[in-house]
Amino acid sequence: MQNNIKNKKILITAGPTREYIDPVRFLSNESSGKMGYALAETLHNLGAVVYLVSGPVTISTIFPIEKIKYVSTGKQMYEECKLIFKKVDMAIFCAAVADYTPKVTSDIKIKKIEDETTLILEKNPDIAFEFGKIKTEQQKSIGFALETNNVIENAICKLKKKNFDFIVVNSPNKNEGFGYDTNKITILKKDITLTEYPLKSKQEVAHDIVKTMIEFF
Ligand code: C5P
Repeated sequence: MQNNIKNKKILITAGPTREYIDPVRFLSNESSGKMGYALAETLHNLGAVVYLVSGPVTISTIFPIEKIKYVSTGKQMYEECKLIFKKVDMAIFCAAVADYTPKVTSDIKIKKIEDETTLILEKNPDIAFEFGKIKTEQQKSIGFALETNNVIENAICKLKKKNFDFIVVNSPNKNEGFGYDTNKITILKKDITLTEYPLKSKQEVAHDIVKTMIEFF
């Protein structure tokens, strides 16, 4: 692979977030972090300076763990990324950040007294959207989209709304995304060109994504 990635500064968000209801309960999702970590490993091996901001994951990695910034909630992930974003050449928003978070988090474990209870949720910060607004001409950003319906239309909307240079469209099918070791992606660029890839390991998919990134440097 042509190596013009060396010494480039790249922010990667990876994994799920946990949105706490009380000290022992949270809302989360099935993201394993494998895709984000595969990208971090590939880019690190090519000599990039990778800033990996990770939600809670249980995977093993060859990426230097002392360099990983671990966070739990979407708000914490946003705050950590704010410290990094300005200095990077590119950001890859791979994390499955929860869209909503409980409006109130109880300091103590909630007791089951009532037969029914209501959880009020408020929107989490949309990290990719916020940085899409302030990114400079020189900075590039990549997003991910997992869609069940109107796949390409929804992905085009996200690409535009979040000001990505390209978006990686995943499928929620068995073996093809969340939690699995393999992924089947389509890359959708700003000029609305589509490139479809066959089912591959997440390491191979990371290489395909990095090959597309190289065009920007
Ligand atoms: O969740 P959604 O499908 O909108 O995610 C699209 C992209 O936006 C992904 O790249 C994801 O990492 C990013 N995102 C984010 N912060 C959020 C929600 C999504 O950075 N709160």
